[in-house]
Amino acid sequence: MRIGVLGAGQLGRMLALAGYPLAKKFVFYDMSGSPSVGLGEVIVDREGQYLEDFLSRVDRVTYEFEHLPVQIAERIAAEKPVFPSPRALQVCQNREAEKTLFGELGIPTPQWRIADSAESLKQAAEALGCPVVAKSNTEGYDGKGQAVLRSPEEAEAAWQAIGHPRLIVEKFVEFSREVSIIAARAEDGQISFYPMAENAHHEGILRYSIAPAPKLSEDTRTEAERYIRALLSELDYVGVLTLELFETATGLVANEMAPRVHNSGHWTIEGAVTSQFENHIRAVSGHALGDTSPRGVSCMINIIGEHGDIDSILKLPYAHVHLYDKGERPGRKLGHINVLADSYEELVWRVRNCVEFLPGSPDFDCSLTRL
Ligand code: AMP
Repeated sequence: MRIGVLGAGQLGRMLALAGYPLAKKFVFYDMSGSPSVGLGEVIVDREGQYLEDFLSRVDRVTYEFEHLPVQIAERIAAEKPVFPSPRALQVCQNREAEKTLFGELGIPTPQWRIADSAESLKQAAEALGCPVVAKSNTEGYDGKGQAVLRSPEEAEAAWQAIGHPRLIVEKFVEFSREVSIIAARAEDGQISFYPMAENAHHEGILRYSIAPAPKLSEDTRTEAERYIRALLSELDYVGVLTLELFETATGLVANEMAPRVHNSGHWTIEGAVTSQFENHIRAVSGHALGDTSPRGVSCMINIIGEHGDIDSILKLPYAHVHLYDKGERPGRKLGHINVLADSYEELVWRVRNCVEFLPGSPDFDCSLTRL
């Protein structure tokens, strides 16, 4: 089977690496003009003239990147099966549509308002009570296009800084930690959940994910599974879906979802029986899903901006290094390291040993190190 992937970055690369053992072939379609996938056939189409060519070479289409025009996904869906559906893409591209859907499905969100001027941003901040987080309604990722307002007087400056015509303004959530749940749904409706991950961010970028998330109550896990199941069913979803959540004293609050494999699931490559990448390929190809059970406990460490001393990390017997073949640049995701262990104590020790060789990495600050 030939799988067409919209987007050609590291997620596409890892999808292909998981799909080759199942004899899948990959064609990537990239509109940005700087593909980094580094394998498979890549069609770079800045002017949008090679879509038919791409479609003639594939049997099914999926994506690794959700910021592509929905019209393109719809055009493709008219000719070839697209998984997940363009509706999932549409909802995830628009924070207002996403939060509205969460509300309809009974998934708690921060209180929110829409602002379309500096004045309405100020009014939203007053109505919600500061601090609030203002985010561009579309096109935001990795904390870009966002500002925290400590008082309504900061509205004018935040409006100018974000520079977007429509914002979603959210009440700032006092969370104890950030977690995510990843699930896969097959064409026949079968659903599998991965254990949840605890995610540590720095400067808006994910740095560490630990899975299974330590000290997670059974009730919290059940709650998260209920929420993501509701989304999968509502969207008649096929493939891997990620839901990012805040854990608070009064329960989970949803932040956003991603209609694709996710950075907080990279630990599954060695840390689960079947990785998120393989399960996505299985789902979009119409196969049964593989086992999502964890193998021990895992931590994923992102390599951001600079590679550090990879040779020394490779000497550590418990470090699995994944590089994306990208050039160094501040804030850029260049690769990740998966560390596995039999206990959380051993995991912390192993992660600290790896991080020593990654000069740009912030402290390994997570619920484990705060025990
Ligand atoms: P996002 O792009 O929506 O995922 O936001 C990026 C990061 O900003 C999140 O991972 C949180 O750390 C933080 N953040 C976003 N929204 C809120 C909120 N309503 N309250 C507190 N922190 C937030």
